[in-house]
Amino acid sequence: MNVHLASYLSGKTADDLAGSKREFLEIGRRSGNYPLATARRDGVDSEVSVWCSNDYLGMGQNRQAIAAMQAAIDTHGVGSGGSRNIGGTNHYHVLLENELADLHGKEAALLFTSGYTANEGSLSVLARMPEDTVVFSDAKNHASIIDGLRHSGAKKHIFRHNDVAHLEELIAAAPADCPKLIVVETVYSMSGNVAPLAEIADIADKYGATTFIDEVHAVGMYGPQGAGIAAREGIADRFTVVMGTLAKGYGTVGGYIAGPAALVDAVRTYSRSFVFTTSLPPAVAAGALASVQYLRSSDVERKSLSENARLLHSLLIAADIPFISTDSHIVAAFVGDDDMCKRASQLLFERHGIYVQSINAPSVPAGEEILRIAPSAVHDQNDVENFARALHGIWKELNIPTASARDWST
Ligand code: PMP
Repeated sequence: MNVHLASYLSGKTADDLAGSKREFLEIGRRSGNYPLATARRDGVDSEVSVWCSNDYLGMGQNRQAIAAMQAAIDTHGVGSGGSRNIGGTNHYHVLLENELADLHGKEAALLFTSGYTANEGSLSVLARMPEDTVVFSDAKNHASIIDGLRHSGAKKHIFRHNDVAHLEELIAAAPADCPKLIVVETVYSMSGNVAPLAEIADIADKYGATTFIDEVHAVGMYGPQGAGIAAREGIADRFTVVMGTLAKGYGTVGGYIAGPAALVDAVRTYSRSFVFTTSLPPAVAAGALASVQYLRSSDVERKSLSENARLLHSLLIAADIPFISTDSHIVAAFVGDDDMCKRASQLLFERHGIYVQSINAPSVPAGEEILRIAPSAVHDQNDVENFARALHGIWKELNIPTASARDWST
């Protein structure tokens, strides 16, 4: 056995291990009844309302996406049979790539088996094209971005989160003639903060930098046809490469990049996580394609998500619950203590049948623990009001500092 694992296990009693097993919560989404789900704990089923799913628009239960996936299973079976370059490219992969390129107004797109591998696999190539590229990366960028940049071996500067002045200071200090790449998310996964995209594009133009934006928490949800935040701001064409996932707004699985054909071809050729792995099952690509197409023409889900997020914001303000104020749908309610955060999550579940996962280190720095709340397009006004009421009760019961009591200067 691995020595580190052995020493970890030796520090645990059988009860500890049984306890952590007992803590395990299985959530089974029920078709047609979302956002309710069945939770199995200690072998007992109960009904819960889910408030931390990344299936923000309920597309995992969309009839058209389900029908498309089922039809593709009937014709193509459940697997792809190989990597994209050796027998694993199917009609649906190509159709989906064309659809995504068109959605983002880019020349080409490339599918990966997840958003993680899309970031890791493309940045490990793009950050070395050309070889002496210097990268400027936001401090709160996702692990998949960090890993891709690390694997590229490129020189990297980290700028303070969403701090364009710091970005400019760092980029101005780099040699004028070296190739530069700026990498940001548009909606940050944990805080819901939105990037100041227009200012970042201005800096990129001023210093001749290439740009890469991760729209994982935005595609499907924002902008005309769900093309994301850059499209919402009318500046999608100012960014070189856009990256997205099919696993959140689109309710399926997979990731992609879209950008200039030459860059996409370079990634297709050199990215190890694209080349050396089995491609997505054709049926997944077919379901994702139906989902992307559906959300290009339907605004109902986007509108509902934004109304629910707005209502939740106003109820949390009224309840004096501290949360990061953003104009996105992700609500990070600030607890700031590991045990209290877990306890709040547990009580919401036990008392109110509400499931919100507590977010602790290493996903956030210790002392910055949050309940990451994800309202969904398929919650209704009643769900939002019940949720806010329950959260308020737990906040009072656990004596978690309120927004007005908290000293925001520290
Ligand atoms: N980028 C960001 C910002 C993310 O939050 C995530 C996952 N939550 C990913 C990329 C990876 O996407 P996926 O879950 O599709 O692998």
